[in-house]
Amino acid sequence: MKLLMAASEAAPYIKTGGLGDVTGALLKEFGKADIEAFLMLPLYRRIREKFPLSDTGHRMRIPVGSRRHEGRIFSHGDSLFFLECEEFFDRSELYGTPAGDYPDNPARFAFFARAVPEACAELGLRPDVIHCNDWQTALVPLYLKTLYDTPFFRETATVMTVHNLGYQGVFDGVLFSLTGLGPEWFTPEGIEFYGKINLLKAGLISADIITTVSETYAEEVMSAEFGFGLDGVLRKRAGDLYGVVNGIDTDEWDPATDPLIPARYDRRDLSGKGVCRKELVGECTLDRGEKNAPLVAMVGRLSAQKGIDIFLEAAEEVVSMGARIVVLGRGDEHFQERLIDLADRQKGSVFVKIGYDEAFAHRVYAGSDILLMPSLYEPCGLSQLIAMRYGTVPVARRTGGLADTIMDYAPLRDTGTGFLFRDYRAECLRECLNRAFCAYTAGPKWKKIRRAAMSRDSSWKASSMKYLDLYRIALGRKRREAE
Ligand code: ADP
Repeated sequence: MKLLMAASEAAPYIKTGGLGDVTGALLKEFGKADIEAFLMLPLYRRIREKFPLSDTGHRMRIPVGSRRHEGRIFSHGDSLFFLECEEFFDRSELYGTPAGDYPDNPARFAFFARAVPEACAELGLRPDVIHCNDWQTALVPLYLKTLYDTPFFRETATVMTVHNLGYQGVFDGVLFSLTGLGPEWFTPEGIEFYGKINLLKAGLISADIITTVSETYAEEVMSAEFGFGLDGVLRKRAGDLYGVVNGIDTDEWDPATDPLIPARYDRRDLSGKGVCRKELVGECTLDRGEKNAPLVAMVGRLSAQKGIDIFLEAAEEVVSMGARIVVLGRGDEHFQERLIDLADRQKGSVFVKIGYDEAFAHRVYAGSDILLMPSLYEPCGLSQLIAMRYGTVPVARRTGGLADTIMDYAPLRDTGTGFLFRDYRAECLRECLNRAFCAYTAGPKWKKIRRAAMSRDSSWKASSMKYLDLYRIALGRKRREAE
């Protein structure tokens, strides 16, 4: 099996969120299992600054609309390729600045999607499967069925993974010409989407197999509530749509070895977690309330998807119930402002840090008692997996990957790894937190939940094998088609 991962980000090279974690971790896992896996990424400025790359000497001329752009292929070792086009990728950010997305994103990623098959041909790299991720690489499967329907790619299958259907790469219809596709594709059966172009749709209509990052989310995306206008397209492909839950990098996220936390611990000896907790309370100057008041944390993007509005609605009452709160995140301006405001009003009980701070995130996961994730929708979610591994019990909404990875505590059976609520309402969030607080004050019960959470296997082992199975299914289909 020769696999090519095509993505706009992959750890450790470049990462802005879950997508980069997933592609990076999968490659690492395939490396351990001796699977021949290649990676193609755009050569962003930050990669060039951090990693010593070699120029392969290979050049490409990629048409984007009426212009042709020069592309150069750089490499790191034998299997990692970086496709360079200074005009598009030599910038400070990946997709845009706080002022907004780069306006030429459709041209940038049309370039990259076309550069992937071009680079394969140039390098003589004939993958069995190209695994594409999100809208930035979603044109690749359609290109293989159209402009690159060549003998070279006759037996190359494609797998398209949707990490978050909320981001589809929708742009003005006049930009369709950037894709180089024939006019028959600017139709409702093609990539036209209410008069605009929808790049993710290109992958959804043409990839041999589609996946999303949890089984529940794979079901949800076929409904109007979660489908963001693409539910009809996905329903048509229901037979080719699979859910594969994400894992986490268990070497990076391990409280027994984590160099970024004040003390190390594991599920047999949690004394180090007590040290982490004390330090976190001190660092966040949470001096109001009971010494043992439960410490509730939130870590993540501050966007409507994450349920920040119902959290803000419930926060003050949660504090009055005796809890203390730490929030780490950045995102929408109005959420940032309201959170800062809350912290000002509740000094000593609520601490808010606006920004992206990896080291602080480690300290928060280690030092907190509860991680709150009241997401409106959640394709998979990594924060709850990390929290569980650090013995921080998740309280979350029963949606997408949260429903699949957290086992709701059942008091009569005394089993569970966290607490789930169903309705997207502040009141339900509060009630659910209250259930968690009750278990928290009943010491032995809490210890059991925490131990169960820490015992969950969130490694990539099982899921990477599932992807391999899907690659084989996709390849089998492609080969039958080619015969
Ligand atoms: P999403 O991909 O929707 O943003 P996930 O829960 O899948 O959410 O993954 C988020 C990842 O990014 C987690 O590893 C989380 O710890 C990390 N993260 C999110 N926001 C921040 C932040 N402000 N500082 C540090 N790490 C963050």
